[in-house]
Amino acid sequence: MKSFTYERAASVEAAAKAAASVQGARFIAGGTNLIDLMKLQIETPTHLVDVNHLGLDRIERTTEGGLRIGALVRNTDLAADKTVRRDYAVLSRALVAGASGQLRNKATTGGNLLQRTRCPYFYDTRMPCNKRKPGTGCGAMEGMSRSLAILGVSDACIAQHPSDMAVAMRLLDAQVDTMDADGVARSIPIADFYLLPGDTPNRETVLKQGELITSVTLPKPVGGTHVYRKVRDRASYAFALVSVGAIFGEDGTARFAFGGIGARPWRTQAADAAAPHGARAVTDAVLADARTTPHNDFKKPLVERILASLYRQQEERA
Ligand SMILES: Cc1cc2nc3c(=O)[nH]c(=O)nc-3n(C[C@H](O)[C@H](O)[C@H](O)COP(=O)(O)OP(=O)(O)OC[C@H]3O[C@@H](n4cnc5c(N)ncnc54)[C@H](O)[C@@H]3O)c2cc1C
Ligand code: SF4
Repeated sequence: MKSFTYERAASVEAAAKAAASVQGARFIAGGTNLIDLMKLQIETPTHLVDVNHLGLDRIERTTEGGLRIGALVRNTDLAADKTVRRDYAVLSRALVAGASGQLRNKATTGGNLLQRTRCPYFYDTRMPCNKRKPGTGCGAMEGMSRSLAILGVSDACIAQHPSDMAVAMRLLDAQVDTMDADGVARSIPIADFYLLPGDTPNRETVLKQGELITSVTLPKPVGGTHVYRKVRDRASYAFALVSVGAIFGEDGTARFAFGGIGARPWRTQAADAAAPHGARAVTDAVLADARTTPHNDFKKPLVERILASLYRQQEERA
């Protein structure tokens, strides 16, 4: 057991200051990922800053007609919110496809975005892992990589981003709102929020030490038919092998975001542009730069099959 100190922050500013001023400090929200990582000594924070009591648990309309979701809104509450279910149904569907009821009751919007990969070698401290311990190598590269990413990967790391919610947020063009230790707020488009692994897979987002996520803002609803299809090894309580979030418009247009295949929630303009030409065209566009291993090559046909099924479903609806 590694010892650590704990404080309950009294304000957003105090939380950011506390986390920035202590080397090795971490925020704790629902704790459903961080506590597991601490038990395994994959993360060894020296100080925990509890952000559960900062009033960041509201879902509000923005003046622009969008939705601001507090960083501490629980996944269960977000999925059940009637505005989310009506106007951003893909988000609700992605959330309920993740984890289990008990976990969703604790898991928060901010924590979900920042959950760490489920690469098995990241969790096994006897194995080399550039993400967990930079410069040690990658156990997955020549090992079991069935669940891992095929897009955005590097020679240093092929880990997949595990979040279902983040795929929907990417599809909806969410902005991640933050505040840093100097009280400076910024809004980061989710497209720019996650870093690709490159040579530094240990750096996963553009957040600075002590920068707190305060909310996630969605733009005005875009209408259309919202779907989220997740293929996994078990019917529940399992991470995606491949997932597809899609919004089909009335006029043959569509937009897509993908989970389970990318080093971050994956979306490309080329895939959206290919939408009127069907599942094969979208697959070719999104997978143009795919880099697979013998273990995870099956994800390529799986992407196409999921898309074909979504197109068929959409035709039946029409
Ligand atoms: C068995 C199991 C199955 C799961 N299955 C799925 C699944 O199928 N799909 C899926 O998407 N997820 C799944 N999850 C993951 C789960 O969704 C995440 O653990 C959860 O969303 C994390 O949220 P949290 O609030 O508990 O984060 P925490 O564990 O509290 O924090 C996670 C990270 O975020 C940081 N953090 C938290 N809040 C903030 C903030 N406001 N600002 C800045 N940093 C912050 C913490 O410092 C920490 O680094 C599963 C988890 C488990 C244990
Ligand atoms: S794929 Fe990434 S997370 Fe997995 S062992 Fe390699 S470096 Fe670590």
